[in-house]
Amino acid sequence: MNRQMTEAELLAGFDKALNEGHIFVCYQPKMNHTTGRMIGAEALMRWNDPEFGLQFPSDFIPVLEKNDLIYLADLHVFEDVCKFQKKVLSDDISSVPISFNMSRHDIVHDDYIDRLEEIRSKYDIPVKLLHVEITESSAIGGMDLVTKVLDKLHVLGYKVEMDDFGSGYSSLNVLKDLDVDVIKLDMRFLSGDIGGRGGTIISSIVQMTKWLNTPVVAEGVETIEQADYMKSIGCSYIQGYLYSKPISSDEFIEKLRLIDHEPAAPAMDLIATMDAGLFWDPNSLETLIFNNYVGGAAIFRYQNGKIDILRINQKYMKEIGMNMTEKEVLCSDPMSTLDEDNRKVFEDTLERAIDTCDEQTCETWRNVCSKICGEDRICVRSDIRMIGKADNEYIFYTMVRNITTEKKRFALVEDSERKFRMASEQANVYAWEYIFATKQMRPCFRCMRDLGVPPVVFNYPKPMFENGIFPLDYEEMYYDMLKQLENGKESAEAIIPLTVGRIPFHVRYTTEFDENGKPLKAYGSATLVVDNEKTE
Ligand code: C2E
Ligand code: CA
Ligand code: CA
Repeated sequence: MNRQMTEAELLAGFDKALNEGHIFVCYQPKMNHTTGRMIGAEALMRWNDPEFGLQFPSDFIPVLEKNDLIYLADLHVFEDVCKFQKKVLSDDISSVPISFNMSRHDIVHDDYIDRLEEIRSKYDIPVKLLHVEITESSAIGGMDLVTKVLDKLHVLGYKVEMDDFGSGYSSLNVLKDLDVDVIKLDMRFLSGDIGGRGGTIISSIVQMTKWLNTPVVAEGVETIEQADYMKSIGCSYIQGYLYSKPISSDEFIEKLRLIDHEPAAPAMDLIATMDAGLFWDPNSLETLIFNNYVGGAAIFRYQNGKIDILRINQKYMKEIGMNMTEKEVLCSDPMSTLDEDNRKVFEDTLERAIDTCDEQTCETWRNVCSKICGEDRICVRSDIRMIGKADNEYIFYTMVRNITTEKKRFALVEDSERKFRMASEQANVYAWEYIFATKQMRPCFRCMRDLGVPPVVFNYPKPMFENGIFPLDYEEMYYDMLKQLENGKESAEAIIPLTVGRIPFHVRYTTEFDENGKPLKAYGSATLVVDNEKTE
């Protein structure tokens, strides 16, 4: 007869089930979807009753929990796992770490960990072959107990995996406070549409956990699409029906023989001064600063010439978001907006940031295309700093500024200045510019050639009088004219002779103002006075 046992039947049959092996363990492999190798397995409890047939954990485990029997069942599972590892080791088969489930109901028993250790030493199993899975719900009713248990387990050398991450409402906070070594992200809590919101959530969790330096195993992965998606966001560790249902110990031994294994990769090294935990805490000062005070900023991962943007703040969107949505920005690769030259500039800057561990700056032109504005080119100044690295994978923090307007204005001025100078060379004109703030004068080629003026005259116009180019009796008048221009006069003109031969020149000035209307520069020119202009 195959039917679900009642609570009374379960309780009455429990001891017998334990002793006669009706309660036993199945194994489900954890795989690296990129390499196809096995990285571990999970031990899952089964109850196969001779009279009532296979019982589901979701039916019998709550009954055992309610009656405080899960503790005994879990120790039984642990012993089975130890026996299994012992057998594998003595058959000279290389094994993988096997995780067992620990519940809130186990850890309220003070001697739970002692009992585990007793069993482990009885079978003499290296602790690295045993991982513990705890759920967020173990923290219900207070963190103190779980934290204490985790500390003890860590001291003994157990690795701890956080089970069913994402199922609780306070996942992030729990993660911040619990020191776990692996995170298991259950696809079944978040799936639905992995291309849409579900995907964004999963992707942020995976990125975030990288920041916390913790590898992620995606659990409940049933399709190749799900596995490929997880891989594409940097999570290759997969447990689910796609690779294998939970299988008997004999079948699992076969798998251990047939499939290569590898250890789960070490997580990324963060640069010591960064406190990643705080950075991801939505209430932390770091987040506040990131969002409000630093201007446009982003965090991105760089690997094999590709960039993944992990996090951006609101100001980043304003500076260079160009009408894209935040999601569009997060899914875009800025590298693809750079032409070959700009790409080289950017990559060189990243290399320098890696080599120096210091901030590096570059300016690059990006081709952007937005639905509303169509195609455009923007110039972005990026201050880049490396904040984390793994093998061939780097994490950078960048502050960005859109300097397109500045650049375009600069290019225009540069162009007009060049034309102006060329024109003066052609016409019989002497030309120069005078910068109010620095009192510097830059002459045209003709001034330099005919009057021996250096390329830059400092403290202008003093040297012109000291060196006898301008006559001293014009000194006061000349200073006065410059003063008026500096005070905002738009133009000025006067007839001033050169000292040598008292040859008169018509001197004209035009002022250039900055965007606040403050005088910036005066452009000067001098032409030989024609006869009827002479005043002397
Ligand atoms: P869990 O720890 O989250 O275990 C994973 C569950 O997901 C297992 O269900 C597994 O068979 C199932 N699963 C794995 N891959 C897939 C998939 O691709 N698709 C779907 N739909 N399901 C998948 P199971 O074995 O029925 O266990 C259910 C729960 O019972 C476990 O959830 C765990 O909370 C509890 N449990 C199982 N064994 C033990 C144990 O030894 N001790 C304790 N305390 N709890 C256990
Ligand atoms: Ca589990
Ligand atoms: Ca789970």
